[in-house]
Amino acid sequence: MSATAASAMQVGLQSCGSCGLLSRPAAGAEFGRCPRCDKTLAFRKPASLQRTWAYLIAAAVCYIPANLLPVLNTTTATGSESDTILQGVVLLWSPTGWPLSLIVLIASIMIPSAKILALGYLLITVQRGSVRNNAERLKLYRTVEFIGRWSMVDVFVDTFTAALIQLQPLMSVEPGPGLFFFAAVVVLTMLAVESFDPRLIWDATNLQEVENG
Ligand SMILES: [Zn+2]
Repeated sequence: MSATAASAMQVGLQSCGSCGLLSRPAAGAEFGRCPRCDKTLAFRKPASLQRTWAYLIAAAVCYIPANLLPVLNTTTATGSESDTILQGVVLLWSPTGWPLSLIVLIASIMIPSAKILALGYLLITVQRGSVRNNAERLKLYRTVEFIGRWSMVDVFVDTFTAALIQLQPLMSVEPGPGLFFFAAVVVLTMLAVESFDPRLIWDATNLQEVENG
């Protein structure tokens, strides 16, 4: 990083999170507003670390019942059965059904846990003032952000699974309590990603440059 690449904050400007316009901060302690799009301005997203941690911990807590409680209650002529996500993955695994089983496994179990771990890593490195792998960490954040936009694939997969099972005669499928926690994990991780300010990744490096002159 060369000294010429000063951040907006270093030269006392705030960039609008919505339209990108640079403005001078409002006088006093109050938040200013973007003259172009009227969005509230701040140097960084307010309380970014605290809010991201709060959403992330809530997501991690909900992740446990999401996997332990049944997401599907299946009723057949012979009786009823409750299945967790993992049991559903095993149930779907067959010579013809394995691609769907794999999609459910990746979308419902692997992606949410990877998102939680990635965000936890970003939060801890920012709090420790890490100055290493900045570009890689930003790339990681962008990836998590990108995956978040496709989170609805989870809901799609579950609906599709339910529809598939419904096709069999004398069978009914109802959502189980795990599905509520599962939806909560999806929403909470999206809020955590939204709360995190990726500019924080570079702050420790910028501070070090200022200190070293
Ligand atoms: Zn704006």
